[in-house]
Amino acid sequence: MGLLSFLKRDKKDKATEEEESHIFINTDDCGGCEKCVIACPNNVLIIDDGTSSVNNSFGCKRCKVCVAICPNDCIEVN
Ligand code: SF4
Ligand code: SF4
Repeated sequence: MGLLSFLKRDKKDKATEEEESHIFINTDDCGGCEKCVIACPNNVLIIDDGTSSVNNSFGCKRCKVCVAICPNDCIEVN
């Protein structure tokens, strides 16, 4: 993406992109152990219906503690 188009994006577009794109959880492999939920220093993740889920992506500082602690390699943070 060029700088101009980046600057032209309004806040809503950016918010949508953040919300949907920077934390990926492979729920097929998630066993719901809660290690990522407990380890996240910013309370970004929750257990929802037995698997990890993003509750507050805006709080994420991309520290990747959750990625490191997951025993099943199911979290990706970009
Ligand atoms: S990258 Fe860090 S702040 Fe973001 S969800 Fe994972 S542990 Fe939490
Ligand atoms: S640490 Fe991994 S397996 Fe455990 S709840 Fe989080 S995403 Fe699921």
